[in-house]
Amino acid sequence: MERDRTTGTFTGNRGLQIEEKLLFEQGEAGRTGVDIPEPPKLKDRLGGTRRRAPIGLPGLSEPQVVRHFTRLSQKNYAIDLGLYPLGSCTMKHNPRLNEKMARAEGLGDLHPMQPESTVQGALELIDTLAHWLKVLTGMPAVAMSPAAGAHGELCGVMAIRAALEDRGEKRTRILVPESAHGTNPATAAACGYAVDPIPANKRGRVDLEAFKAKLGDDVAGIMITNPNTCGLFENEILEISEAIHAAGGFFYADGANFNAIVGRVRPGDLGVDCMHINLHKTFSTPHGGGGPGSGPVVLSEALAPFAPLPYVVHGKDGFRLIEHDHDPAATGKAFGRLKGFHGQMGMFIRALAYMMSHGADGLRQASGDAVLNANYLMASLRDELTPAFEGPCMHEVLFDDRFLKDTGVTTLDFAKAMIDEGFHPMTMYFPLVVHGALLMEPTETESKDGLDQFIGAVKALARRAKAGEAAAFREAPKLTPRRRLDETGAARKPVLRWRPPDPQGQAAE
Ligand SMILES: *Cc1c(COP(=O)(O)O)cnc(C)c1O
Repeated sequence: MERDRTTGTFTGNRGLQIEEKLLFEQGEAGRTGVDIPEPPKLKDRLGGTRRRAPIGLPGLSEPQVVRHFTRLSQKNYAIDLGLYPLGSCTMKHNPRLNEKMARAEGLGDLHPMQPESTVQGALELIDTLAHWLKVLTGMPAVAMSPAAGAHGELCGVMAIRAALEDRGEKRTRILVPESAHGTNPATAAACGYAVDPIPANKRGRVDLEAFKAKLGDDVAGIMITNPNTCGLFENEILEISEAIHAAGGFFYADGANFNAIVGRVRPGDLGVDCMHINLHKTFSTPHGGGGPGSGPVVLSEALAPFAPLPYVVHGKDGFRLIEHDHDPAATGKAFGRLKGFHGQMGMFIRALAYMMSHGADGLRQASGDAVLNANYLMASLRDELTPAFEGPCMHEVLFDDRFLKDTGVTTLDFAKAMIDEGFHPMTMYFPLVVHGALLMEPTETESKDGLDQFIGAVKALARRAKAGEAAAFREAPKLTPRRRLDETGAARKPVLRWRPPDPQGQAAE
């Protein structure tokens, strides 16, 4: 047996990281994990239309399947393994109590078509969560059904459009700061609006004069994230809110960064007309890997009547779901329906468990600790890295790549080197308003020890970059099951087959 050149082992495995064939390559026709008796011979009821050839499912034993998925899970990085400093994503710990509640009997096995009388507890739960979301944001109404932040944006902008149509106005432009998350302009465009970008000022905030110059009677609204994606509080927010209202437009707040201000700032007091809340960020429900998330949207008096169906009301005999505008208990002129059913029930349960187990004081402490942790990173890293903006930050800290100038190391190389050190990289190249952005969000659930270890690694890597070791960075990551991939090639021409150990030293892809 010869050694694989990439790993130096005979098997191509690395320690307990096992290289294995695809299930389709492992499978053997006829092998199975269960014994099923021969089906009785029945008369053909399909008029001859039936499968003529095997469909090619791999035949596998139960241990093969279990090992395959367990190995896959070990190749995955997760918040349950370590720090996940992905800025803008709020990757905080999901308390196990939430999981226990979501699986509780009577909640875990609900069906959305059950008769209302059998799901009173679930409707009460939705109503209770809605109540606390309204209290925390200082807003009079909330639409619970959106399935994520981006879906909440769609809900909010559709409500704005419906309200404008109701006023008999057709406005065509939505203002969006240049630092905005990509979903903001995408939402505005999807709703048929022209996206008009507002530049940032030198302090990383909305340029107030540039914003005012863009106002006019064709502006439907502005979409602002606060704290913004540079991790900074928009401290001219009241002026912005007054100016947009004076121009007859609506104020959409992107609430993805609500984690920084829960219990301290009520968006309703800032004149917000609608704001989505990513339960999977601020209220700790799990995310990553495509969901499920949940993005309820709080609404002002002006937008509340247009909230989508269905929604929960208190009826004479308990809670009721309003499914149609012509229901006598309907309270508004819904713009329509966003989702087949009532929203992400599992996320509602987790978010409410999180709120109730923390209490008002606990939620307020969480936002305070999130901001403290980010500022600790900023203060600890500022002598090696270059903060993009001066002053304290909110729950995340933004660096640019000036500290890598003339080193030959890019933001991408730096992020890849973090993987070898056992950390998930920070968010890279976002927001677009600074060069080579590195956006770090530690969240409140990291301990000082954990942060110190991260800080130590980041500083050591920065020193290494400055010491002229660019070549080593370009090879990173070297210790992962897969080394640095050609990002375009990996997406366009993926190699999905297992490769036997290769003594010639082709890097495994
Ligand atoms: C995460 C995020 C979104 C989108 O939310 P999803 O739940 O991922 O759809 C929008 N805006 C900002 C600022 C975000 O961080």
